[in-house]
Amino acid sequence: MSQPPLSGQPAKILTTFSGLVPPGSASESRLFDADRVDWNVDWQTALRRAIRSTNQLRQLLGLPLESDSRDSNEFGTFVPLEFLRRIQKGDARDPLLRQVLVTSDEQLQHSGFVSDPVGDGDALATPGLIHKYDGRVLLIASGACAVHCRYCFRREFPYGEFGGQRQKWEAAIQYVRSHPDVHEVILSGGDPLTLVDENLFELLDRIDAIGHVRRIRIHSRFPIVIPQRITPAFCDHLSSLRSRVWFVIHANHASELDATCLSRIGLLVEAGIPVLNQSVLLRGVNANEQSLVDLMTRLVDHRIQPYYLHQLDRVRGTKHFEVPIQHGLELMRRIRARLPGYAVPTYVTEQPGQPSKTPLDRI
Ligand SMILES: *Cc1c(COP(=O)(O)O)cnc(C)c1O
Ligand code: SF4
Repeated sequence: MSQPPLSGQPAKILTTFSGLVPPGSASESRLFDADRVDWNVDWQTALRRAIRSTNQLRQLLGLPLESDSRDSNEFGTFVPLEFLRRIQKGDARDPLLRQVLVTSDEQLQHSGFVSDPVGDGDALATPGLIHKYDGRVLLIASGACAVHCRYCFRREFPYGEFGGQRQKWEAAIQYVRSHPDVHEVILSGGDPLTLVDENLFELLDRIDAIGHVRRIRIHSRFPIVIPQRITPAFCDHLSSLRSRVWFVIHANHASELDATCLSRIGLLVEAGIPVLNQSVLLRGVNANEQSLVDLMTRLVDHRIQPYYLHQLDRVRGTKHFEVPIQHGLELMRRIRARLPGYAVPTYVTEQPGQPSKTPLDRI
């Protein structure tokens, strides 16, 4: 098995996961109760028991149910309990909830918001490999994710057609082998950590065996969403590679960084792996001075380096998350006045055809 069952599965989990809703209980006890959940489970169990229905998510958090729960959409609700427990009950404006709750705003059409705003479809070098920038390639190791972020710029990326399948690695690896100018391979997706260790290690080893590859970068939301994915065995394998491994996590708000997640990220740091964080500037989530200062402070307090703050990519159905660039620039000025230089991320946007991400506040 190369991938756990994820998107596209029917929302059956509530009926099969009895740990949350005891039969015959009063409606208040249908609320999420962290004390009744077994937290000592492996990451695959965490994926299997993730919430896959908007109304179930609303019910567990004590929010009003919707008559049309909008779960038919391909990129449906997907929220592991490990992430759910960090959401404040009864607060529809919780910054973590807003990242994962399907709303009617997603159905709205707006001009300029399209299916592939960053031009990934055009930059495919082989199925599953994007070569946009000098010296580095992005390999779509898996199309699945540990969570479905509603603002995701790849939410409409046709993984099924282009990448995600193991056999497609073959062409990607061949491409890297035959391009001596490629010094860094970025495993992304989707989320490469949805691969089981056996397959992931095989992929890493094969890339590591290519002499001109000096660095392997892993982009993953697992350390935040399902932190138990990061194990000592996993870190050992990364440290054993000839190539230097860099790790990029993705947190948008300080409340995502709970104790469990920080201790698992600590395993990577202790293994000597540089850990960077990228965030997306999101209305209703982190688009205010204090939220950004809190996030960056929490990161550097745990030896995680803020890397990019992304302007939202204009993908269909995400306009309600957009922050005007002028406001983003103002926020950058304010946080720069309050943080050490190394805690200030680079505010970037992605423009198709450009040789790098485009910095917005460094002139
Ligand atoms: C963002 C991105 C990268 C990495 O860019 P860095 O500036 O090195 O972080 C590489 N390839 C693709 C296709 C990207 O979108
Ligand atoms: S984890 Fe990353 S790729 Fe997956 S849905 Fe979230 S933002 Fe998109």
